[in-house]
Amino acid sequence: MPLSLEGPRLLLRRLREVMAKGGGRQARLDEIVKLIAASMNMAVCSVYLKRSPDILELYATEGLKPESVHKTRLHVGEGLVGDIALHARPLNLADARVHPLFAARPETGEEAVMSFVGVPILRGGTVIGVLVVQNTNSRSFVIEEIEALQTVAMVIAEMLVEFGEAFSVSENKGPKRFKGLALTQGSALGHVVLHEPRVEVERLIAEDVEEEYVRLDKAIYKLRQAVDELLLTEDVSHAGEHLDVLETYKMFANDIGWQMRLREAVRTGLTAEAAVERVQSNMHARLQGQRDVYLRERLQDFEDLSNRLLRILTGRALTASLEHLPKDTILVARSMGPAELLDYQRKTLRGLIIEEGTQSAHVTIVARALDIPFIGRIENIASIAQEGQEIILDADSGECFLDPSPAMHKVYQEQSKARARKQKQYARLRNLPAVTKDGEKIDIFMNGGLLVDLQNLTESGADGIGLFRTELQFMIAAKLPRQDEQIEFYKKVLKVAGKRPVIFRILDIGGDKILPYMRHAQEENPAMGWRAMRMALDRPGLLRYQIRALLQAGEGRIIRLMFPMIAEIEEFIAARDLLNREIKWAEKLNRPMPREIHVGTMLEVPSLIWQLDALLPQLDFISIGTNDLLQFFFASDRGNPLVGDRYDLLSPAALSMLGEVAEKCTTHKVPALVCGEVAGRPLESMMLLALGYRRLSVPATTIGPVKRMIRSVHMARLRNGFAALRREGKPLTRASAQMLANSLRVKL
Ligand code: PEP
Ligand code: MG
Repeated sequence: MPLSLEGPRLLLRRLREVMAKGGGRQARLDEIVKLIAASMNMAVCSVYLKRSPDILELYATEGLKPESVHKTRLHVGEGLVGDIALHARPLNLADARVHPLFAARPETGEEAVMSFVGVPILRGGTVIGVLVVQNTNSRSFVIEEIEALQTVAMVIAEMLVEFGEAFSVSENKGPKRFKGLALTQGSALGHVVLHEPRVEVERLIAEDVEEEYVRLDKAIYKLRQAVDELLLTEDVSHAGEHLDVLETYKMFANDIGWQMRLREAVRTGLTAEAAVERVQSNMHARLQGQRDVYLRERLQDFEDLSNRLLRILTGRALTASLEHLPKDTILVARSMGPAELLDYQRKTLRGLIIEEGTQSAHVTIVARALDIPFIGRIENIASIAQEGQEIILDADSGECFLDPSPAMHKVYQEQSKARARKQKQYARLRNLPAVTKDGEKIDIFMNGGLLVDLQNLTESGADGIGLFRTELQFMIAAKLPRQDEQIEFYKKVLKVAGKRPVIFRILDIGGDKILPYMRHAQEENPAMGWRAMRMALDRPGLLRYQIRALLQAGEGRIIRLMFPMIAEIEEFIAARDLLNREIKWAEKLNRPMPREIHVGTMLEVPSLIWQLDALLPQLDFISIGTNDLLQFFFASDRGNPLVGDRYDLLSPAALSMLGEVAEKCTTHKVPALVCGEVAGRPLESMMLLALGYRRLSVPATTIGPVKRMIRSVHMARLRNGFAALRREGKPLTRASAQMLANSLRVKL
């Protein structure tokens, strides 16, 4: 006879009593199986637990022979119980004996039983055991009974965790090594903080089921509202998602099947949050290891939604940034935008690991500026890593180690010492000029935009700031910075820079640089959309505002300004006109003015290359932003892990393009600077020197290695070697650049 509605709730209440009584694990499991068999009117109830990732052991039974407990063992995938563990899904059989996987174990005496229901015991989406009930008659079980069993399985899982034994149930135990992509440098030892922390459910069993329905309904309503809002304002940097993917997400939030499963789980006597966790855990277990990318992404959608729902129910913050973090935080996330990273306090962050990530994505640039060891492309790490787990991150090799062994600790300590020695070497170079062996001076500027960069300017020995990304200040502000705040900030930058030049780049908003307080349109291709000067020229208010602040901050000094994302000469002319008008306006009002104003532009859009003859005579300098230039040149999204690093500066096409640009700048006698991330890599910057560039603007942390390279290069020999390579007519590649460096004994 199927269970009445009261059945599962009563069972849960009794289970709670058993738990409250205390006692050892075995005693409680013995009592639990008895209780389940009695209240479900079953001849048999058994609990199998994993002894190792692939062995299940009978831990407790009511109805099977007691001597088989701790003796009967099966492989995951073996028999009906093994099948449940393998696929993490329930089995419901009216007559188990006709199932092809049925193989009775004589020592248990189970030949006599017919009907069979088994459900996985899950913890955090991982199967840790199987709960089975069996009977001597033949009958199918109704969905409510299976739901009830799943709920009981959840309670058993909680109890086992409470015992906190080194249960080999979790595949996560023991040191684990993961290989990803090194995005910055350095290494760190610390503890995992999940960017979107999984919520621990504390209250499992409902006091009042009706009340839990109400809580669940209210939370789902709030979730839907939040998702609707998200669709209007979602920061596209989140994952570069398309609108249709976000629409799918919305569809899931409204998914009736999901809501029914949640309600079903509440019906069995769980609290609303425990119901969410149970459904999430089932889904996770079933789809874990799924190779189909589409299904995996859908699983992530569901997990995201479940996490959001859990947070609504428990009142926890959406991300960890607002919480009190340990001092040795290693942040683990699926993906992250630059503004999200800036939400964290730098002093608590030792490292960052994400599942996506590319070399020139803005979050990487921010991590580099903050000197945070950072690894990307570690599949599933946000699901695998547990809050508080110890972790070593080695951003030089792109590896990380969860629960590191003592041997790994030792290797880490040794590497840290070696790194410290190298840093010392670089520090010794700090006050030495970046001069080649044959006496050519190269200017090495640094890229910046944050207050910490001012400290970097002093410590790195940079010749100045070649790219000051003014938008970063706007991104970390909670509201649009007032003009007086902007003036103060720019003044501070100039003061710290002293005699060293600073090139302020006019706001480059758009793409993945979203200002949280400004509405922005949903665009199919935001990187190629309404961003930077396109936005500024259409809505010049903000641009004027910023120019006024910069002019005023530069009182009595030389101020250098440049415009981002110029694609056509007319855009530069329009921007320059606007600047001229602001200068006139300030002069008319007798406002404080800079002594000189130098104006340049960034070269980030390939179309500008064919306008250089007309453009260069109007410029005081030009700055080549290879991050965007290469993404548009190769049609390869810099933020997309599948293509972002696919194309190389050290390739025939890119080198030939940059060579042409260098020649034009020399012809027009306009100083050219390369400020993309690639300029901070010694082999790449050596090739930039070979092409004729003499000014580089690089992340502060790379000044040491680049300066070391420069001081080991004989420029005339580099030029000759490069010319010889060209004469040979072979394509210029990374391999030929490396050979050239080797033959000239360049220190890379
Ligand atoms: C670039 O595009 O190369 C650049 C320096 O600008 P950003 O990385 O800020 O887009
Ligand atoms: Mg750019």
